[in-house]
Amino acid sequence: MRMGLSLPAVMILGGVVYGQTVAQPRLMEAPTAAPCVVQDEWATPAEKSCYATTPDYAATMAYLKRVEAAAPGEIKIEPFGKTGEGRELDIVVASRDGVFDPAAIHAAKRPVVLVQNSIHAGEMDGKDACLALLRDMVITKSKSALLERAVFVFIPMYNADGHERRSRYNRINQDGPAEMGWRGNGTNLNLNRDYQKADAPETRAFLAMFHQWMPDFFVDDHVTDGADYQYDVTFTMDDGPNVPAGTAKWVDEVATPTLERYVDAHGHLASPTYITLASDNDPAEGLGFNDNPPRFSTGYMILEGRPGMLVELHMLKDYRTRVTGNYEILAGLMELVNRDADKLIALNAAADQDAKTMGSHPLSNVKYPLALSWGGQTTPFLFRGYKYTRELSGVSGAMWVRYTHEPWNVSLPAQTGFKVTAETTPPAAYLIPAQWTQVISVLAAHQVEMTRTTAAWSGVVETYRCNGMVWQGPPFEGRHPTFNGEAQHDAGRFGSCVLVREPLSFPAGSVVVRLNQRLSRVAMAWLEPAAPDSALQWGFFDSIFEQKEYGEAYVLEELAREMMAKDPKLKAEFERKVASDPAFAGSPNARLEFFYERSPWYAANRVGLYPVGRLSSLEGIPVH
Ligand SMILES: [Zn+2]
Repeated sequence: MRMGLSLPAVMILGGVVYGQTVAQPRLMEAPTAAPCVVQDEWATPAEKSCYATTPDYAATMAYLKRVEAAAPGEIKIEPFGKTGEGRELDIVVASRDGVFDPAAIHAAKRPVVLVQNSIHAGEMDGKDACLALLRDMVITKSKSALLERAVFVFIPMYNADGHERRSRYNRINQDGPAEMGWRGNGTNLNLNRDYQKADAPETRAFLAMFHQWMPDFFVDDHVTDGADYQYDVTFTMDDGPNVPAGTAKWVDEVATPTLERYVDAHGHLASPTYITLASDNDPAEGLGFNDNPPRFSTGYMILEGRPGMLVELHMLKDYRTRVTGNYEILAGLMELVNRDADKLIALNAAADQDAKTMGSHPLSNVKYPLALSWGGQTTPFLFRGYKYTRELSGVSGAMWVRYTHEPWNVSLPAQTGFKVTAETTPPAAYLIPAQWTQVISVLAAHQVEMTRTTAAWSGVVETYRCNGMVWQGPPFEGRHPTFNGEAQHDAGRFGSCVLVREPLSFPAGSVVVRLNQRLSRVAMAWLEPAAPDSALQWGFFDSIFEQKEYGEAYVLEELAREMMAKDPKLKAEFERKVASDPAFAGSPNARLEFFYERSPWYAANRVGLYPVGRLSSLEGIPVH
């Protein structure tokens, strides 16, 4: 069923099934009189409602437990943590031979696919698709071949607390189901901005489960925001310069075209890229740039060296079209992973090996990209949009885009070039002073290997001097980072961090993070200040930018006179500044601070001196 042809399902949303008569907030179609009757005892709750509704947490788990009871040798439901509100988080494992131990599965060279649903709990299409796919793998057996070699693991409701904050008013842009969950978790954090900083209990539980399972392929299911167009299934797999080269090649040459063809051959229309318009009020300007820093699930997969796929069903298609479209791309992926199992396992092993050699780069001077932005190149993209009109709006005062449902198939420029905006030569190891406990706790949550120093140590190390930071005023994800909220490519507020060599002190119990480990990229993304989701940018090091001691004016008066007497050049510089800078000349404080800032008393504040050392070797460091 192609989109645009399936409007009757919208009408069902009027509530015929359950007799609801409350108007949808924005869908104008009249309710249909056609009743919905589904007899099949294994119909999923969404199918039973003819896709008018999605089951709540209890009904979802009840269905899954029925499937588990009917196919105990192939299904296992496993808790992996708790949400902030205390709900159990589960994965569902489908394994044809009843082996549910991840180590045994990997030893048998069977690829593991992990599918995450409902991270934005108003976007739960993937959950209902996974219920149907699971049923078809182990109950009806129409898809049992998909478990021939691969193991299918899915999280039905990752943001379970958001999932239960149900309302018909949660997603104004989205066409059904009748009620849906909320984007934020129990503390209103967006879990899909939390992968690197790991503030939420859900993220910490995910990281532990992820490392236990070490999936070979990761999927995160969503529903779009943004423009209107013909596609119902859109998806993106990262292939940028920080994706291991072999993986990027397989993603571009095999996985992406295979899934596009599969989805199109199964009654849907796929876009092999997530559609972001370069300009919101003129689709003709083309498609914008997609890059995922590690705050996002799929961006985090880059650091783990695993291919990740963002699936986004189009919000304006009806729920039946979206759930069945999500089903098809997952079925297509499972088919591909079974077919390319050996290749995929080898690519992941190569990525792990590559990550382990990161700490040897001080010798070879290899640069590792930390942050990317659009590089200015575009590639023609055959866009299947809808014709639209633009007119000046008396409401907004800006151009008003109105979409028709008439196809507009046109070649548009798509931004595809990458520019490296921050890079570094990886050190052999980082040394984090013991007192930065929250910074260390995040690395521990990521299961980065660390050792502790056995005695205090001081010495000259490579580190950064940072200045010019501007912190965002309104909160973003409960913090006030040095970047501008969602505009992750806005580097203007970051200021600069310059590599320096400085004497630093590290108490006993300081943390050594060697980069000869599989998670070397996770450590670099967290500890290199210029990386887009670094601890410094998220505010974990804010206190290093605070001046703690000040000079009293009558003390600085004396200091200024002494300094000018000793240093005629300094005196001349001061006089020039007074003559040329009226704001400076008019500020008694600034005139006195001029001298304090140039004195050893100010330097003792160490404002902006990054406390983490970059070591080129561990020689002399007291560590086992
Ligand atoms: Zn989403």
